[in-house]
Amino acid sequence: MVKRLIVLVLAIIPLAAWGLYSPMRVLAPELNGMTCINETLCIDDVRKTNEAQKLYHESSRVVAKTLGPFNDEPRAIFCMTEQCYKSFGFKAPSVAHTVGVSGVVISPRGWNIIKIVHEFTHHIQAERLGVVQMLFKPEWLIEGMAYCISNDNMNDVPQRYVEAKNHFVKWQLENGNKNLWEAARNL
Ligand SMILES: [Zn+2]
Repeated sequence: MVKRLIVLVLAIIPLAAWGLYSPMRVLAPELNGMTCINETLCIDDVRKTNEAQKLYHESSRVVAKTLGPFNDEPRAIFCMTEQCYKSFGFKAPSVAHTVGVSGVVISPRGWNIIKIVHEFTHHIQAERLGVVQMLFKPEWLIEGMAYCISNDNMNDVPQRYVEAKNHFVKWQLENGNKNLWEAARNL
């Protein structure tokens, strides 16, 4: 009886998490109605696949050039509709969202290199610093780096992120030739 109960509970937990914690859906986007073209690119409207692929490759190239290669290329989920974006648990004003090292969800407002480089930067941060450790790093490092690497023009960005970016740029200059990730891990 106890055994059966355990089996039942173990079966229910993932289902409950799927329902209650939508970002978990990045783990299996197909179950959320997406089409996965390959391991790293899922989309809700396959007619836009070429555009999404171009954005993915260009953004990935920028991050690799400035921050080094990914351990694993991020899985990017391209949403053409707000409804799709919402189904992963996110909504405006956020334009895109990175879930640890599991995936990056891009809203219809986030289909541009600046926003995708921003999120891919968060992905590589999670890889190099650790998903949990990242939560304890200062905002100026995490967001400042993402706004800096993506070369964001900072229009319509809250003031605290403008300050975060400036702080990061200053810190990077002070670091000189020191390894960025080693210095970041020590913060
Ligand atoms: Zn960010």
